[in-house]
Amino acid sequence: MQTQPKASHFIGGTHVEDKSGEAFSTVYPATGETIGELHSATPEIVNRAVAAAKSAQTGWASLPPSERAVVLRRAAGLIRDRADEIARLDTMDTGRALTETQNDPVSAAASLDFFAGIIPAYNGQSIGLGGSGGPFVYTRREPLGVTCGIGAWNYPFEMTGWKSATALAAGNAMVFKPSEYTPLSALILAEIYKEAGLPDGLFNVIQGLGPVGSAIIEHPDVAKVSFTGSVPTGKKVLGLAGSLMKYGTMELGGKSPLVIFDDAPLENAVNGALMANFYSTGQICTNGTRVFVQKSMHDDFVSRVVERTRKIRIGDPFDPETQMGPLTSRMQLDKVERYIAIGKEEGATLACGGGRPEMQGMEGGFWVEPTVFTDVTDDMRIAREEIFGPVMSILPFEEEDEAIARANDTPFGLAAGVFTTDLNRAHRVAGQFQAGMCWINNFNLVPLEAPFGGYKDSGVGRECSMAALDQFTQIKSVYVETGTVESVF
Ligand code: NDP
Repeated sequence: MQTQPKASHFIGGTHVEDKSGEAFSTVYPATGETIGELHSATPEIVNRAVAAAKSAQTGWASLPPSERAVVLRRAAGLIRDRADEIARLDTMDTGRALTETQNDPVSAAASLDFFAGIIPAYNGQSIGLGGSGGPFVYTRREPLGVTCGIGAWNYPFEMTGWKSATALAAGNAMVFKPSEYTPLSALILAEIYKEAGLPDGLFNVIQGLGPVGSAIIEHPDVAKVSFTGSVPTGKKVLGLAGSLMKYGTMELGGKSPLVIFDDAPLENAVNGALMANFYSTGQICTNGTRVFVQKSMHDDFVSRVVERTRKIRIGDPFDPETQMGPLTSRMQLDKVERYIAIGKEEGATLACGGGRPEMQGMEGGFWVEPTVFTDVTDDMRIAREEIFGPVMSILPFEEEDEAIARANDTPFGLAAGVFTTDLNRAHRVAGQFQAGMCWINNFNLVPLEAPFGGYKDSGVGRECSMAALDQFTQIKSVYVETGTVESVF
């Protein structure tokens, strides 16, 4: 399939190349082969993208929201028409199994439809100040202007869809920078928006590494950054935005707890733990990588998890039978292998996995086996630090209070889950989790209707849901006098 993009960037409604920018390549993680050669944005390209966005934004914002919605819905339809191509491109760029990436255009299209649907109903308030016919205040939700989106590499198309749908629905323009590891599919979304009738300049994609992201944020005409990435980078990005008094939404990493009580059906809990750790080869920010299991159930749980993990089918990401592809980059493979070594050194028991699977004809890929550690203690680095790979840590516990305290003992606060059939306990525990997203008797389900984001170091602000629109608008209060003007002078 064709993976080399027509050009590195998409600005003002056209593909743009500028070979004076630093060259970088993107690879197919299953084999390590280069699949695209691109160029990083130069300062001139950054300026061009922001200028295109600025000149298009005012007209777009002045349209009735229902007209903006028509364009977004049309784009959602075009995403569905090109869903197979998009999924294949994301599999080439991320290495994730095609059976998984097929969901990403579906989710992105649903996001465009969702924000198209709610934007006409997203309005300010009227605040009465007393008396019929008396003064009142009304508020308006106004767009921020030109916004910047910066994406991570695990869900490139979906993330681009989520961020741009919210920004555009609310009347903003966006300059989007994908991760350098997965630069391809955002360019397809730009083409789709154009075909759907989005005015040129409203959605621009420019490529590059971290400094390009910083350059967009620093541009005086950019009002906000919506960032997905790691906590250390998120702190830098929010610091930069804050120093310039700009808005920032940070969707960052996690080390989420999954607490399994002994009254939970074993198979349900095992399914939950597998989905919480191994989907997307473990490269999901919300993953429940600290699996706390009540002691009386611990041994049965471990043996079933190990049995099921050994059966996971690792293989050619395009094979419909494949359940797990490689990691997305060499860097990530090195990191995951380093953590597996650390886990062994720290004294955790390697219950299964831990090595590189033999992949005939794909030896150059970034493969790792799904891995389970038992006898993990709270102080071990594998239980404290985000690995972002298929590495599950199982930790036994005895009492509910103890489990909650240990689950919350982390600087992260993205997500948490509990498995139990005790209704009162389920809500009691969910209520005490210090996490932005909690699941009862499931894990990692992310409906667009629900706010998505973290507590503590895991982020600031929310994506998805009505709450996301608050992050892409600013409130204006308008005081309306209905009587005479009093003066002390
Ligand atoms: P990084 O933080 O390394 O990078 C994220 C993005 O920021 C990339 O596009 C990167 O560019 C860019 N970037 C790097 N430095 C800067 C800078 N100084 N200024 C502006 N932009 C910069 O994260 P990863 O790409 O490694 O993604 C994995 C992380 O993302 C994990 O921690 C994961 O938990 C988190 N994540 C969070 C999600 C959430 O919604 N909470 C969802 C998915 C992932 P480049 O890589 O090209 O240098």
